[in-house]
Amino acid sequence: MKAKESFAGCLSRLELMELDACTQCGECLKYCPVQDVTGDPSVSPPEKIRIFREFIKATDTLKARLFGPDEIDRRLLEDFARAIFECTTCGACGEKCPVGIYTQRLWPILRREMVKRGLGPLGSQAEFPRNVEDTGNVYGKPAEERFKPWFPEGVEVLERSGIAYYAGCTGAYEAQPMVRGDARVLGAIGEPFAMLPPEEEVCCGFPLFITGQHDMLEGLVKRLVDAYSARGVNTLVCSCPCCVNMMAREWPLFYGGSLPFRIRHISQLVAEALRAGKLRITKPLRERLIYHDPCYLSRGVGVIEEPREVLRSIPGATLLEFDLHGRESRCCGAGGAARKVFHENAIGMGRLTIDEAVRKKADRLILSCPACYEKVNEAMEGYEKQVRITDIMELLAELL
Ligand code: SF4
Ligand code: SF4
Repeated sequence: MKAKESFAGCLSRLELMELDACTQCGECLKYCPVQDVTGDPSVSPPEKIRIFREFIKATDTLKARLFGPDEIDRRLLEDFARAIFECTTCGACGEKCPVGIYTQRLWPILRREMVKRGLGPLGSQAEFPRNVEDTGNVYGKPAEERFKPWFPEGVEVLERSGIAYYAGCTGAYEAQPMVRGDARVLGAIGEPFAMLPPEEEVCCGFPLFITGQHDMLEGLVKRLVDAYSARGVNTLVCSCPCCVNMMAREWPLFYGGSLPFRIRHISQLVAEALRAGKLRITKPLRERLIYHDPCYLSRGVGVIEEPREVLRSIPGATLLEFDLHGRESRCCGAGGAARKVFHENAIGMGRLTIDEAVRKKADRLILSCPACYEKVNEAMEGYEKQVRITDIMELLAELL
């Protein structure tokens, strides 16, 4: 695609109005974690919006239509693409935006547009489609190792059930204590659940979606939806916020209609089981726990109270909060596949999370996302401040 082709065409009318509504007030700047660690104004939300408006001006105004579009400097396009891919898509800017720009939706659209123009994805993100094609996961790891190394003994899995559990690629390959905890807790609830065989539980599509590589998505989504439907599933449970977000918000669009089952985050199921007395936490834990809300769980799908309900039901535990929590949560640096390319940024953001947990004298930092788990653990390596990191279901499984 040439730089002269319409830039407005990738946006809906509402999104164009949102873009136009940015007053450059800078209110969102204080909440952008990438801006915090890089200090680079080109990655800031208003600057990205300003530049994209310039692109639209060059290709879509009356002048452009009458006299032909202006040529956009290739360097400017490349710098913009870099800024768009450096963002973690955490959505904190949109949460604080007084004119209500839905940035957690806007940035992925602009990434897709950059990909269409040959300006993205960046670095190893480009390997995602081939890896998914060859192995079913973005890491290019063998499908037969998807469940075997971590799935706990003694937990029954059915071929067909009303409830199914989707482990997800990052959990299964990069955050195994987390998915082991999921399976143990689901087993303890006592309602037998189904899982797809490892070669059928392919990527949910989120890494492809978020890096603007959409070609395979329709096929991937239909394959998964049909596989769960064929097993009589009416509730699909998952612990990864990115997967849950992808399934709940994007799958219906790629599937072409409503899904034939409900999507639930594991904390919702567990909170319900605790309330119903199907699950009991027996061991006390006299610790100060601080819970980090994953961006795609809190801002993405609005699951905020249930993880806290689960943690509050641990006898003896004290629940602390980050200054920015719930819908205002600060990204730990692992989001939007930016960590694959901008490693130092991700480590910097992870360390800001660690700093606050240590400052608040937490005994444990409780996470609920495999990408956070992977990256914040990495940020802890060799860092002078230390706090124990545990996934919420990993912790619960220890206390049942
Ligand atoms: S989505 Fe997050 S990282 Fe991206 S610009 Fe907004 S606040 Fe910054
Ligand atoms: S808060 Fe909203 S209107 Fe203000 S600069 Fe940021 S994106 Fe623009």
